[in-house]
Amino acid sequence: MNATLIDSLRGVSGGSLSFAAGFALLAGLLAWLAVEIFRSLLRTFAENKQQRVALEKLRAQLTETKLRCQSAAQAESGWNGIRKFAVTKKANECDDVNAFYLKPHDGRSLPPFKPGQYLTFQLDLPGRDKPLIRCYSLSDCNDGKKDFYRVTIKKEKSPPDKPELPPGAGSSFFTDVVKEGDILNVKAPTGHFFLDMTKMNPIVLLAGGVGITPMLCMANAIAASGSKREAYFFFGVRNVREHIHKAELEKLAAENDNIHLHIAYSKPSEKDVKGKDYQHEGRVGIELLKEVLPSNNFEYYLCGSGAFMKSLTDGLEAWGVPDSVVHFEAFGPATVKKKAAVPTQAETTHLQKVMVTFARSGKTVRWEPSAENILEFAKAQGVKIDSGCCAGSCGSCVVAMKSGDVTYLKKPDTTPDAGTCLTCVCRPKNDLVLDA
Ligand SMILES: Cc1cc2nc3c(=O)[nH]c(=O)nc-3n(C[C@H](O)[C@H](O)[C@H](O)COP(=O)(O)OP(=O)(O)OC[C@H]3O[C@@H](n4cnc5c(N)ncnc54)[C@H](O)[C@@H]3O)c2cc1C
Repeated sequence: MNATLIDSLRGVSGGSLSFAAGFALLAGLLAWLAVEIFRSLLRTFAENKQQRVALEKLRAQLTETKLRCQSAAQAESGWNGIRKFAVTKKANECDDVNAFYLKPHDGRSLPPFKPGQYLTFQLDLPGRDKPLIRCYSLSDCNDGKKDFYRVTIKKEKSPPDKPELPPGAGSSFFTDVVKEGDILNVKAPTGHFFLDMTKMNPIVLLAGGVGITPMLCMANAIAASGSKREAYFFFGVRNVREHIHKAELEKLAAENDNIHLHIAYSKPSEKDVKGKDYQHEGRVGIELLKEVLPSNNFEYYLCGSGAFMKSLTDGLEAWGVPDSVVHFEAFGPATVKKKAAVPTQAETTHLQKVMVTFARSGKTVRWEPSAENILEFAKAQGVKIDSGCCAGSCGSCVVAMKSGDVTYLKKPDTTPDAGTCLTCVCRPKNDLVLDA
């Protein structure tokens, strides 16, 4: 209570209360009351604001914990070895491309996976003594509501310069032989190329041809999560005949403001309509990214042909994008080499002296530093080693090492057992004796 008010009260107790003193007392009381009410309101407002901030923080922490738990559960999910899956639907997407919807034959639940991962198939092809191993990316996400996995497969034609060679064995089998109702042998989803769904940073998805599959899965996962994470999605094909999952992509972009779809046709046909079927004429290249993106400050995910990935990784590097935010999936022999994979001059000098022994074939040869990897080197020496994906994914080319060690050119998706190496993605570190 202030001094004026106390003095006024003293006056009251002395019994000499005049009208003016009474008025002053009342006014003082009212003023004091108003100040106290105002202070109390300010306090409540500040407390409420603090509570709101604390609540927001708690909510964000809960969402993060939930996402981390989901992510950890996904990492632990899967099954060991082979599981049988029934082909419940085979849908023609466009020229030579089919989508396969797969449900577990045992009727049990379908483990989640990370968007960008792939399935490994053990295919029993007629006339082959051993199963053919092939990997295919999951082209749709699993949001917990879907009861199928989906892969989208393009039939690999004979090389244009060697039409006498047979077309791709695995993809032809899927395209020409596999039908609805068939049962396939499938290994659990795996792979290091995936979108971290616990993060909210903006991303750029860059797909060329059938390389759309992991990207579509990522974009679908963002949409299904309800998050507003920004995603610029570039997809390059020749024309509408190669426009894989066209309707699904268009629906995805129409229903999600945060997914910005940019389709580039390099050879549009007369019927293709710019602004409807596609947005850009030409290839998906760094110039297009510079034209469309507000800055280079994104995390980038790439999948496409060797030439597509080489041009984009070079372009991104020149644009000042750090290597650490550029991720890519190679569908075949790893055509994009990380800087660490290129031997230095000192390593080349050392590698020129390294001897590789193929013990079972009875051959000892000097390593050729220009060789892509041990698998290619073995082939050139006439030593046969089984192979599948040639990308460190399927595990077909595993060979036991009797002595010596290897350097991996990329982190393999399948961890080889101790004392073995995945020959398609490594080179010798020193003298090496292989059981091949
Ligand atoms: C992680 C990962 C994910 C993938 N995801 C997908 C996907 O989502 N969709 C998809 O379509 N593909 C995907 N692939 C590629 C897929 O795994 C296969 O590599 C592809 O289908 C070709 O396999 P194939 O058995 O049909 O061809 P192969 O039999 O391996 O033949 C490949 C090429 O070699 C030619 N050839 C045949 N014989 C010879 C010979 N004697 N000498 C030289 N050349 C020859 C063939 O004509 C063909 O052009 C993925 C690969 C990886 C590693």
